[in-house]
Amino acid sequence: MKAIFDDRQWHHDPKHFMASGALKPNPEQPRRIEILTRGAEDAGCRFQAPADAGLGPIAALHSAEYLTFLETIYARWQRIDGAGAEVIPNIHPSGRTDSYPKSAVGQAGYHQADTACPIAAGTWEAAYWSAQTAVTGADLLIGGERSAYALSRPPGHHAFGDLAGGFCFLNNSGIAAERLRLAGLRPAIVDVDVHHGNGTQGIFYDRDDVLTVSIHADPERFYPFFWGHAQERGTGRGLGYNLNLPLPRQTGDEDYLKTLGIALHRVRNFGADVIVVALGLDASIDDPFQGLAVTQDGFARIGAAFAATGLPVLFVQEGGYVSDTLGVNLTRVLGGFQEAQ
Ligand SMILES: [Zn+2]
Repeated sequence: MKAIFDDRQWHHDPKHFMASGALKPNPEQPRRIEILTRGAEDAGCRFQAPADAGLGPIAALHSAEYLTFLETIYARWQRIDGAGAEVIPNIHPSGRTDSYPKSAVGQAGYHQADTACPIAAGTWEAAYWSAQTAVTGADLLIGGERSAYALSRPPGHHAFGDLAGGFCFLNNSGIAAERLRLAGLRPAIVDVDVHHGNGTQGIFYDRDDVLTVSIHADPERFYPFFWGHAQERGTGRGLGYNLNLPLPRQTGDEDYLKTLGIALHRVRNFGADVIVVALGLDASIDDPFQGLAVTQDGFARIGAAFAATGLPVLFVQEGGYVSDTLGVNLTRVLGGFQEAQ
C-alpha cells in the first residue's frame, strides 16, 4: 500500500493542553510520527511525499477568514505584551454574533474551540502539509489505487469549517472526501477514532453527497461532549446522511465489530463507491484516553471489515496516542485490510 507523509508535518510541536483545570503535556506529540511511520512500514507501506495541490482543496471546506487566522495569528500573538509562547484562547463567544473581533485574543476565542489546539510557529505549515498528505491520498485513489494510507498529523476530525479544536486545525478526512467527490465519486467517511468526529459532522451536516458515520465513546461523559449523540442525524438535505454510533465506555472487540457492521451497512445503502476511514487508533485498550477497549486483534478485524466492502479505501490518520501498542495497532489495521483483500 502506498503511504504519504511530508517532513514539514514535524513542525507542529504543541507543548500544553488543559485537562480538568490542570496544565498537562500535549499528547499530540511529533513523536507519534515516528511510531506511526514504523507501524505503517511494518504493514508493507512505502512512503512518498505529497504533491502541493495548493489552497483550493482546503478552502473548499474552510473559510478564507479562518485560513487567514491560522496563517497569521502566531506572528500577531507575539506582539502582545507578556503573551505566552503558544496561541491559546482565554475567552470564547458564548454564542457567535455577526461581529468578528479585530484583536488577536478575540479571534483566538472565535476560532479555537478549546485549549487543546495551541498554535505556535510551525503549526500552519504542519497543518497545511497534513492536509496535502490527505489530498494526495485521495488523488492516488482517483488514479486507480485500491487503497492508501495518509499519515496526516496534526489530525483533523475535530476541525469545523472555521473552528480548530481537540488537537485539530484542518479537516484532513473531509478535505480528502471532498476531493474524491469533485472527481465524480460518492464518498462515505467512516470515523473509528474513540472521539466523535464533530468537525466532520459539522462540515457535512446539511449535505447528502457525503455520508458521515462515526463510532465513538458516548459523549455524555467524553470529549467532545456537545456532539456525537445518536439523535444527530443531519439537517435539511443532509437529514439521514449523518450516523452517530456512540458506545459505552470500555466496549470491547465483539460489540465494536458489530457496530462497525451497522456502519458499513449504511455505507452500502448510501451507494458509496469509495470510503475515507478517519483512522483514529485511540479506541485501543492501551490508549491513554481509556475510552474503548479494542485489542490488537480487534484492529486487524476492523481492517478486514473495510476490505470486505470491496470498495477502495483511503485511511487518513486521526488520533491515537503514545502507548506500547500504538504502532502495532496501525500495523494490524493496515495488515488486516491487505490480508482480507
Ligand atoms: Zn481521538
